Amino acid sequence: MKYSLRARWILPVAGPPIDGGCVTIQDDRILSVGREIASPKCHDLGDVALLPGLINAHTHLDLSDVDAPLGRPGMEMVDWLGHVIQHRFAHPATPATVEKGLYETARLGTTTLADVAQDAPPAEMVESLGVELWSFLELIGPTANRITPQLERAESHLAAGARSKSWHAGLSPHAPYSVLPDLLVRAAALSAERHAPLAMHLAESREELEFVRHGQGPFRRMLENLDACDDGIASGGLSMLDYLRTLAGAYRALVIHGNYLADEDIAFLAGRADRMAVVYCPRTHAFFGHDPYPLEKMLAAGTTIALGTDSRASSPDLGLLGEIREALRRHPTVAPETIVRLATLGGAAALGQKHRLGTIEPGRRADLVAVALPTQSRTPADPYRLLLESDAPVAAAWRRGRPTVF
Ligand SMILES: [Zn+2]
Repeated sequence: MKYSLRARWILPVAGPPIDGGCVTIQDDRILSVGREIASPKCHDLGDVALLPGLINAHTHLDLSDVDAPLGRPGMEMVDWLGHVIQHRFAHPATPATVEKGLYETARLGTTTLADVAQDAPPAEMVESLGVELWSFLELIGPTANRITPQLERAESHLAAGARSKSWHAGLSPHAPYSVLPDLLVRAAALSAERHAPLAMHLAESREELEFVRHGQGPFRRMLENLDACDDGIASGGLSMLDYLRTLAGAYRALVIHGNYLADEDIAFLAGRADRMAVVYCPRTHAFFGHDPYPLEKMLAAGTTIALGTDSRASSPDLGLLGEIREALRRHPTVAPETIVRLATLGGAAALGQKHRLGTIEPGRRADLVAVALPTQSRTPADPYRLLLESDAPVAAAWRRGRPTVF
């Protein structure tokens, strides 16, 4: 099947915006992009911006039953985690919870998704929505007796992912305060052996830095309260760079958040930008009231950066457009085009897929989203700015060349 889509603006990310441009799709691929209409079957989408499908590089679909962020803005991470644990205890996640999140994610324009999961994802629904999914199995193991069972779960998740045609498997050792360094080293080795990516929450809060450096603070007290404070996890004397060096041993690593990465950490990641990325979650960052995010430094260093929504427990919805707009508000000196690039090509690069996804170019997969543009100003200097300064939602999406109607 071959057809063309015409739009007021095409934002290919791989090149400059095209005014009154046209994208031609053949089956699940982009055939051409430019000004001429390459197929007699052409749909004029009107006053919209057509951009690559959005790539959400971090979420937790199993918290999709949460109506609004838990706790209150600005609260300490440890107290917020208490709310999350309480919620999971009172409302255990079911496949329906994950499906709810997957549906919301697709409806809000995400075409590729990296999810932290407790189990294999609902393959049929993933397939029917046409979303490309990486399912990162969450590993939690603060004590030595948890290492073997966690590695067994990891092995079977990776084996299930290798068998599946509808999703890819990865591993997510949760965070420095919930994963023994030994478990992390072994998860990284498994990632390298099986060519599966690793994602870890890292440098998310000041309290986490204190825990890594000195083994003290609220995270130590949390582990003591849970009777899970092994010497091996709370010994202190480590740095973020130690964790990054371990992650560098993985096949590919996503550093989730990285809110408090120091210059040397950023330089380390930039030196490995082909295999290591940072995932910035702007609305979650805002919810906790962290120090300003070092986005400008990361961009200047050449770090690979993707965007994520994180879960509904810290973000109002699973839409990446909201994250892009929040990032623009918080980093007004960064060009809007650069921020859109993080949510498309940046996500593709983080997942090792920039040869297939993240731009509108011939040969790339036909994953596209259309966002309505305001009609009053027909000749904006920067269509990216026009797109991001409006609050219009995603109007339509195409996954693998198929239009998705919700
Ligand atoms: Zn997270």
